[in-house]
Amino acid sequence: MAKSNRRNGERSNGGARTAVKRGRIASHSSDAIKHPIAPNAPVDLSSRPPLPTGTVQLLSDAEEAEFEETVRRQLQLIGEDPDREGLVRTPKRVARSLAWLTRGYREDAWTAVGEGVFAEEHDHMIMVRDIELYSLCEHHMLPFFGKAHVAYIPNGKIVGLSKIPRIVDVYARRLQVQERLTEEIAEGLCSVLHPSGVGVVIEAYHLCMMMRGVQKQNSKTITSALRGAFREDPKTRDEFLRLAHNGRD
Ligand SMILES: [Zn+2]
Repeated sequence: MAKSNRRNGERSNGGARTAVKRGRIASHSSDAIKHPIAPNAPVDLSSRPPLPTGTVQLLSDAEEAEFEETVRRQLQLIGEDPDREGLVRTPKRVARSLAWLTRGYREDAWTAVGEGVFAEEHDHMIMVRDIELYSLCEHHMLPFFGKAHVAYIPNGKIVGLSKIPRIVDVYARRLQVQERLTEEIAEGLCSVLHPSGVGVVIEAYHLCMMMRGVQKQNSKTITSALRGAFREDPKTRDEFLRLAHNGRD
């Protein structure tokens, strides 16, 4: 669990970032960012800042103990023996990973951007594409995952490009429905920047649809939220939606 969360953390931090100005795309190669190190090259982990692993304790001792007891009971109810060797530490792991996967409740758009807001007269569209996104559906507490494309037109302030994926994470790391997640990311960006417009598109696969229920393995759900110029100006809206849907072309 620790290992896979660590990998997820790296992926979500390393999502392709594309700063798009109107009519001109300043693109950083997504491959260069995603694979900075050749697969077999030695990696000096000591030089890297520690990443959240999902095994850190976010709950109090009392909350964690109660959580573990609940998971033990769940294991019994599905017919498992919580005392068998492979499951002995599972309640603690589940408690910690679920607290980590929902840590967005402890944050908001302001904590995500921190000091990363700057005065700037730039007034063209800025877009960050292909932000990897992992969330949990609130109906089944199963993952949904995909990509977010976020754009805004500044109105005197800009935010560091790396902060936009962090805003996405604040709202993705909660129990969500994709429609609300899309709106909350747009609102979060509006609240810290008061921009002239914001556009958010999310395309995601839902495990609750893929693993159970209708078992539609290939259906992707696409949602969008538009504010200000992205809603009112057809040219801006069209440009954003074209970049969001076809930016790779
Ligand atoms: Zn669901």
